[in-house]
Amino acid sequence: MPDITQDNVVAKKMLGIFGGTFDPVHYGHLRPVAEAATTLGMDEIRLLPCHIPPHKQAPQSSPEHRLNMLRLACQEWPLFVVDQRELQWNKPSYSVDTLADFRREFSQQPLLFFIGMDSLCHLDSWYQWSSLFDYCHLVVCQRGDFLPKFNVNIQRLLDQRQTKDVAALKHQRNGLIYLAKTSKIPVSSTAIRAALSRGVVDPDWLPDSVLAYINQHHLYTQGELSPP
Ligand code: ATP
Repeated sequence: MPDITQDNVVAKKMLGIFGGTFDPVHYGHLRPVAEAATTLGMDEIRLLPCHIPPHKQAPQSSPEHRLNMLRLACQEWPLFVVDQRELQWNKPSYSVDTLADFRREFSQQPLLFFIGMDSLCHLDSWYQWSSLFDYCHLVVCQRGDFLPKFNVNIQRLLDQRQTKDVAALKHQRNGLIYLAKTSKIPVSSTAIRAALSRGVVDPDWLPDSVLAYINQHHLYTQGELSPP
């Protein structure tokens, strides 16, 4: 008998999507998501570098550099695959548009959109935030340098959509929130850029190959956009 769910979806392989500025990519991005992927039995996560982030300053490094650093990270972490679709669109990277595009491409698979806890707490400031659930589930990773506080919108969202049932994520294509128990890694791209501009960075914060690339191309040393 096929495994049929409430919304009549046969259980399909889940696709993970993890968006960010990745300026640069670091272990706070990679480790928590990899841990959650293991818990959920997933074997592919798309890393989605944004083109123009709507919620923050323009990235310091060029798209090419951010892409190259992600590719280096993916060589060490085969779970991750770079997805360039947002970089190919010359417009602000709204997650709801990107996820709609994924849904057009993968009409039947559960789509799991990974975010950090800080992003969940501010989700109600995102463009068309409640429509995200028309396209994907959310998997929320712990964030080491952030104390979570849920406002009324986010608490209501969790009351309506949170699940602790991994199987439910497989059997529904979208609509749920899963809070993953992941390591708290207190690092951010901002902290790495600041450390690099002072000339010292903790090598435990990011993959060696990414740090070597940063040094080779003199990235983040002057606070200016650095062409490849
Ligand atoms: P910046 O410091 O430049 O703002 P960042 O380190 O926060 O960057 P982003 O690329 O903006 O990284 O984040 C992409 C996603 O990664 C977001 O969902 C964010 O919550 C998550 N994230 C970033 N750092 C961590 C961390 N240390 N632990 C867990 N999640 C993280």
